[in-house]
Amino acid sequence: MVHHRLSNLYKEYADKFAGNEFVFGCGCTEPKLLLIGEAPGREEVKLSRPFSGAAGKNLDDFLRLAGISRDDIYITNAIKYRLSKVSPKTGRLSNRPATRDEIMSSRVFLLKEIELISPACVVTLGNVPLRAVMGDLSLSIGQMHGRPVCERVGHRELMIFPLYHPASVIYNQGLKQTCEDDILKLRDTIIYG
Ligand code: URA
Repeated sequence: MVHHRLSNLYKEYADKFAGNEFVFGCGCTEPKLLLIGEAPGREEVKLSRPFSGAAGKNLDDFLRLAGISRDDIYITNAIKYRLSKVSPKTGRLSNRPATRDEIMSSRVFLLKEIELISPACVVTLGNVPLRAVMGDLSLSIGQMHGRPVCERVGHRELMIFPLYHPASVIYNQGLKQTCEDDILKLRDTIIYG
């Protein structure tokens, strides 16, 4: 039932944003945790699976640290198509940041997806999913990481747990300890409530 409703939602999404390369959510459809990233990259499009590239390796390290298995959670992205631009120098595709309009137009679908999955806790990875879920483009992960907040999504009050994006440690090794501390807080929050 949930699978069927999710695949209808993803079909609707693909129609609305036709012409893009899509990667939809996957994993356990009755999870305690729903993880939301920003948007798929080249590797994710190739394998049709969220977080299968370099950022996915960091994500797997964090999940291992917290004793969380990918099999027990659902992973999706706030924006389900690759955010790409053509490099004028090389003519090749590279990633680009999401625009405010893209965050808000995909948000409608993201909120429906969250309602269908109905997790106990939503973990946002970085600024884009945090802003999308909360519907507030001014929020910053630097100020909100590692502390759960409660938010009404559809008919339910949900726990949102903001984490830095796993790729952030690729660019800033100084964040590694903070990310590890945050993921251990997440583990304690889901185990001890
Ligand atoms: N970064 C994301 O935010 N999502 C992915 O699926 C991969 C990298």
